Amino acid sequence: MSAYAVGFARPDRRSWAQQAEQFGSWHAVEAHRPTDELDGEVELAVCGAIVQIWGSQRWDRVSEGRAACPECRRRTAPALRSVG
Ligand SMILES: [Zn+2]
Repeated sequence: MSAYAVGFARPDRRSWAQQAEQFGSWHAVEAHRPTDELDGEVELAVCGAIVQIWGSQRWDRVSEGRAACPECRRRTAPALRSVG
């Protein structure tokens, strides 16, 4: 089973993307440590984005929302399905 932490793409690094900051802001990050240990760390999301870990969020919930990155959602879908 793969565990994913939730990362937030910080719009302050992407001023050109202000219009899109409500869409695709949440990314999945492969969690090699417990997510509470990763909280606040800057990591590489599965889609390649640089994000900051948001340890209180769960990817299996966030990924169902509109603000989740479509690429991360697609790449993590098989793992989430296997969890059931
Ligand atoms: Zn992503």
